[in-house]
Amino acid sequence: VDFGYENVDFDEKEGKVKEVFHKVANNYDIMNDVTSLGIHRLWKNYFVSQIGPMRRKVVYNANGEPTDKYEPMKILDVAGGTGDIAFLIHEEVKSQRQTSVNAEAEITISDINSSMLGVGKDRAKERGYTNFNWLEANAESIPSLEDNTFDLYTISFGIRNVTDRLKALKEAHRILKRGGRFMCLEFSEVKIPIWKEMYDVYSMNIIPLMGQIISNDSASYQYLAESIRKFPNQMEFASLIKDAGFKHVTYENLSGGICAIHSGYKL
Ligand code: SAM
Repeated sequence: VDFGYENVDFDEKEGKVKEVFHKVANNYDIMNDVTSLGIHRLWKNYFVSQIGPMRRKVVYNANGEPTDKYEPMKILDVAGGTGDIAFLIHEEVKSQRQTSVNAEAEITISDINSSMLGVGKDRAKERGYTNFNWLEANAESIPSLEDNTFDLYTISFGIRNVTDRLKALKEAHRILKRGGRFMCLEFSEVKIPIWKEMYDVYSMNIIPLMGQIISNDSASYQYLAESIRKFPNQMEFASLIKDAGFKHVTYENLSGGICAIHSGYKL
């Protein structure tokens, strides 16, 4: 299959992304472990550790005065796929609760792809997690979620696959409460030349080969590797986040820029 992403139109890209993730859903988790040599777990753990305390929030009345009621921190994990980030957040909340933090979170996992969500739901059941909300939705437009609803929006290895990224970022901005935070974990640009060359060979040749061996599907993994190369670099993506209206936009490189965590606030 030649995905030829340079020339495809938006509708076509969305269809192909769907096709890729329907195909890889069942092997997605094992492929992540194999292709990243397990390192994606470290990146995800670090990403979740950067959220900070997930305290329950005081409920304010119509006059803006605090009441004696509390509500959980509301978190939306977009392109949540098979649930990795949501599960880690859930565990982090549990461990924060054992310290001095009054942590409580209500977590919604959304993804455009029913197959990925299906695998996520099965994994959640296996682990005894019963308290997630699941939502099938395109990150570009989630009309079922109201304005100013969430305290935190996370997206991990998802924004790269979204066709109209600015639209998705604006949607994130709309859904977040004032003071809410956008956090994104995504592949980025490796800056060190020799490291970049090694990484290019690995991602463009070895990963599709692993896809072929493990899932009998090198084309999907070829697409995933190409989409990494075409994704905007750290500064370009930071400026797109600013264009969507976010403030205090920052990023941090992981593993020499193989990945980056971008963050911004709705003020
Ligand atoms: N967040 C998970 C993780 O970190 O392991 C899954 C990442 S997986 C590489 C990318 C996910 O993005 C897939 O589950 C795919 O279905 C989803 N996706 C692709 N395009 C999307 C869109 N427009 N809106 C929402 N999700 C999308």
